[in-house]
Amino acid sequence: MFLPLALLALAVQEPAGPGPHAPYWQQQVAYRIDASLDEPSGVLSGREAITYVNRSPDTLTTFSLHLYLNAFRPGSRWADADSVEHNRRFNDLKDPDFAFNHVRDVRIMGQAVTASYPFAPDSTIVRFDLPRPLLPGDSMSVDMGWDARPSTTPRRQGRRGRRFDFAQWYPKVVVYDRYGWEEHPVYPAGEFYGEFGSFVVSLDVPEDQVVGSTGVAVCGDPGWERANRDPSRPVEYQRDFYGVTAAQLGVDCAAKAAGRKTIVWYARDVHHFAMSLNPDYRYEGGRFNEVAVHVLYQPGDEKTWGGGVAVKRTETALAWLDQLYGKFAWPQITNVHRIEGGGTEFPMMIHDGSADQGLIVHELGHNYTMGILANNEWREGFLDEGFTSFQSTWFMETMGRAGGYQNTEAGILGLDLDGLSQPTSLVSEAYRDFTTYNIMIYSRGELFYHQLRYIVGDDTMRRILRTFYDRWKLKHVDENAFKAVAEEVSHRDLSTFFGQWLHNVVLYDYAVGRVHRNLAADGKWHTRVEVIRLAPGRIPVEVAAIAGADTAVVRAQGLADREWVELVTARAPGTIVIDPRVRTHDWNMLNNTRALGFQPLSLVFGPGRAPDVYLDTYLSGRSRRDRKTLGLAPAVWYNDVGGLTLGVRAREDYLGRFEQNRLLLSAGTGATNPAGATDVKDVDFDLRLRNPVWLRSPGMTQTLDAFRVEGRTGARLGIDRVSREHFGFGPVWTNGVSLSWVSTQKFAYLDPRAWDNAGTVEGELHTGVTTRSGRWNLSARTSLGGGLSYANPGPGAMTEFRYDVQGYFRGTFEAIAKRTFGRSLNLGLRLYGGAALAKDTVVRQRRIFLAGADPYEELHNPFTRSRGSLFRQDDVQYHLPGGGNLRGYDPTTSALSALALNIDLERIVVSRPRARLFRQVGIAAFGDFALADGAFSRTPTSTAPRFAGDAGVGLRATHRLGGTQFVTRFDMPLYVGFEYLAHDQQPGKHVAWRWTFSFQPPF
Ligand SMILES: [Zn+2]
Repeated sequence: MFLPLALLALAVQEPAGPGPHAPYWQQQVAYRIDASLDEPSGVLSGREAITYVNRSPDTLTTFSLHLYLNAFRPGSRWADADSVEHNRRFNDLKDPDFAFNHVRDVRIMGQAVTASYPFAPDSTIVRFDLPRPLLPGDSMSVDMGWDARPSTTPRRQGRRGRRFDFAQWYPKVVVYDRYGWEEHPVYPAGEFYGEFGSFVVSLDVPEDQVVGSTGVAVCGDPGWERANRDPSRPVEYQRDFYGVTAAQLGVDCAAKAAGRKTIVWYARDVHHFAMSLNPDYRYEGGRFNEVAVHVLYQPGDEKTWGGGVAVKRTETALAWLDQLYGKFAWPQITNVHRIEGGGTEFPMMIHDGSADQGLIVHELGHNYTMGILANNEWREGFLDEGFTSFQSTWFMETMGRAGGYQNTEAGILGLDLDGLSQPTSLVSEAYRDFTTYNIMIYSRGELFYHQLRYIVGDDTMRRILRTFYDRWKLKHVDENAFKAVAEEVSHRDLSTFFGQWLHNVVLYDYAVGRVHRNLAADGKWHTRVEVIRLAPGRIPVEVAAIAGADTAVVRAQGLADREWVELVTARAPGTIVIDPRVRTHDWNMLNNTRALGFQPLSLVFGPGRAPDVYLDTYLSGRSRRDRKTLGLAPAVWYNDVGGLTLGVRAREDYLGRFEQNRLLLSAGTGATNPAGATDVKDVDFDLRLRNPVWLRSPGMTQTLDAFRVEGRTGARLGIDRVSREHFGFGPVWTNGVSLSWVSTQKFAYLDPRAWDNAGTVEGELHTGVTTRSGRWNLSARTSLGGGLSYANPGPGAMTEFRYDVQGYFRGTFEAIAKRTFGRSLNLGLRLYGGAALAKDTVVRQRRIFLAGADPYEELHNPFTRSRGSLFRQDDVQYHLPGGGNLRGYDPTTSALSALALNIDLERIVVSRPRARLFRQVGIAAFGDFALADGAFSRTPTSTAPRFAGDAGVGLRATHRLGGTQFVTRFDMPLYVGFEYLAHDQQPGKHVAWRWTFSFQPPF
């Protein structure tokens, strides 16, 4: 009985937590800061007095401050989180480049207190014990001195010469809310949560500085008039906005020394205070209703920011946000061109890397969702980044730039399907990496609001936003606050929706079930449709009955496994479509359409929606969200046996990942065959079925090949799985298994140097990995396989010593390392090993090929696979990479075992990233070396291992046409060790002018 009693005692001692309807409260803070900037050292030194009123129902015994700038120095949690992701920034900074914020002489309630750092060695949080408890309703004073320095590597803050972006620069009161003190070290992900308060900031700086800031300057010269580029527009200081004078605040703006000036800033109802300084700032002003707009830009920005461009865009953003949420809470907004790219938001201030309209709408939007609707960014970042990303996309939509939702939805769907998404409401540092955090908080978070807008409709969504703003402005908000408003305004229970989108990752899939339509007595068609829910996700789903111009749409609730809806149309409906506007995040839309009555196309394509058929140019395939695509392309090639061969290729796709089926039908015409060649006029097929929707599995690729191509027949079943632990860093693994059968039928097509007249049944396991290490891109792949080969015995082949059927083993290993030195020197190294073993010798097509791809790797390549193919003509030396990759050697050269090393050094001499042809041109030097068993040398007595090698120079160019990037490579293997095995025959010469070309990089 002891234990339960003890637990009970503990439970009784727990302070009673606030109930779901606990009254809202927030602490009250007033800052008074006097700071002086020493430009040469980059240090801002100050004194800070805080008046703190405990509005909470709790008695406080400690007090905590954020010292954010300590994140941008070695040893911080931020710096360590960066290093874990192979992104070394602040851990490598030396004095005086790193940032800091030190406090000294801290007195609370008039008594000296000592600092403790609960997350040491991270010092972004400092905590003090109070000299005596602070009761609910009581207030206290906190005084301290401090020094602060931004880092020279900018991140949200920074300094460069005389430019200073001051963000999170002063000791800032930690929020005390219903969870207690929100002591949270700064990580790269999630940052803002602040206690609302008032700020009096007296700033002593060199006289020529131009300063932008949160708040208004009650006295002193921010330097705008001198920097003003539009003299017709006088600077609006709004010194009297708050109705308090410098004297009433107990400050004055007398210069502290010659060549210096003092500016006193004042702000109310803000939870952060930012500044930016640059003596070269240009100023332009504007206004939206009562809100003054200040823009500070850099020399050289005259076209991109100046001439009213940035002012106009800031005003446009304010107008959009004003009608979306409500009246801006503050007197002004200052938009500055900061040191770093990107953008960061602060109350009354945005630090932007460009004057892009989308960026301004995003960052200014944060003044609402973060600044005014003050969420806890590291706990619920979707209320911050997701929210403002959503309104930015909506803004773009009103500007006629649609597609934002569609692109985001499709991208997130891919991650959901691969099991790589994480719930949208995790604490920021709980995401598996920074990239995942960004995608889930910004993009998946954005989708949450789009889905809500779809569920409740545009008008209700607008009312939700305005009600939320009206009720919660200048307060701390959370999911519950937003949900309560959304439910109240929409009159809907949204708990399922919030649970699914914020706390879970689920797939959605609705399908058309049974359909009954009949002409009722009222003369109208009544169509009953069964909506089947096939995935866990539940969302209201639109069902449309399309009857020519008369289309009816109803909504199914989407909750039950099966649900019936009824639609009424004047004419007989021809098609039923579920989710016609593609808004439910339904992953499989191939089951969303049902054609009714006789549909001629359904005889070809089945009962669903007919695919989007297009003429395929080979360069870019087409992919659609709501249906399959079918690309048709003519094909033509040549070889010496089938002659001119004509074909047609069909390829299907859904979502760029499913139903990637391909069929190539071809027929040799025998035309233009060389005299005396065997003339074979076969009709061939090459079929690939890949990733049917019914086999959906995260990261998996399933492939079934069946073919009869130019004298070979076969089939292959393969399954591969790609897995990764992180985005942006760490290894990506591919593991797979395959079973294949290949048989030779018409040997006339085959080059006897590479093929025996034999078939194989082979199983293979393979595993591969790619990763980065420092500046190296690394990859490795190994395969272990084996099976049975069966020879089709020819005359004289039948001896008692020869096996018609024998087992064999085949294993390969490949490792590639590539890196760039400086900007234009690329080094590539490749190590390859392979062995093909059997009691008797292994059939030729399964040996280890020394010069490039082996015969099975080129089965589906009509330009190389047969005798006299276009790229296998006598005077055409085409290199298909693979095997030992001795690029100067004849592609039929093979051995039973080999170890090879390839080296490629390339200097980029032309780089034109936007060009289509010759985007990049490089000159290269290369060498290929192999140690192989002597069989490759084609001297029958030689079995001892021998070295083979080549070396030369080359020319490469990269091109991009449509969606296809490809390479043209021209290599000159000037030296070839076994000159009689050279691809480009120069009898008797080791060193000679030789060439080979390729459409692929060397490896
Ligand atoms: Zn943002």
